[in-house]
Formats: sequence, structure tokens, C-alpha cells
Amino acid sequence: MTQPDSEKPPEEHYPCPKCAGGMLRLRYETHFTWLHNVMITVPDFPVWVCDLCGHREDDVRAKRWLNILLSPTLGHPTVPQPRKTPPRQSPQSSESASP
Ligand SMILES: [Zn+2]
Repeated sequence: MTQPDSEKPPEEHYPCPKCAGGMLRLRYETHFTWLHNVMITVPDFPVWVCDLCGHREDDVRAKRWLNILLSPTLGHPTVPQPRKTPPRQSPQSSESASP
């Protein structure tokens, strides 16, 4: 009798580095961060919370992802460049055609 235990994904948790007695578990909370002078809220942001002492740790991957998102210059300027519109051949007004 062998039960396949691969169906159940392993619950993500690891021992708390602070109290060494609790377990950090992944929770999803609204994350607040500041970008320059603008407060940004990120809903459902993963954070590790100890179930014993309440110690919190940011999820590294999520933090990196957030940093990439909030990076003002990601190698490419996000400022839309003004397009050079080709100079229209405005027909010179022939109104000056004076008799
Ligand atoms: Zn703890």
C-alpha cells in the first residue's frame, strides 16, 4: 500500500529565525511601499509571518519582482518619446496670387 504523496503540494514554511520555535508561513497581505513621494499599495503581496512571535519577512522573489516593477529606469525609458511627425507639405496659400 503506497500512497502517492505527490498530489499534495508541500506546504511552504520554514522555521522562524527569530524565535526558533515558530514557523514562518506565507501570507498574502497588502504591502505598502514608497516610490519617491508616492505611496503604493500592492494587494496580495506575499509575506512570511511567524505564527508564534509574529516576525515578518519579505518574500525575496516577490520583493525582487516589486523592485523591477517599480524601477523607474528599467533600461528603457518609459517616457513616451515624442514622435517626429514628418513635416507636412503645407501648400503655400495661393491666396497671395494677386492679379
Ligand atoms: Zn518567530
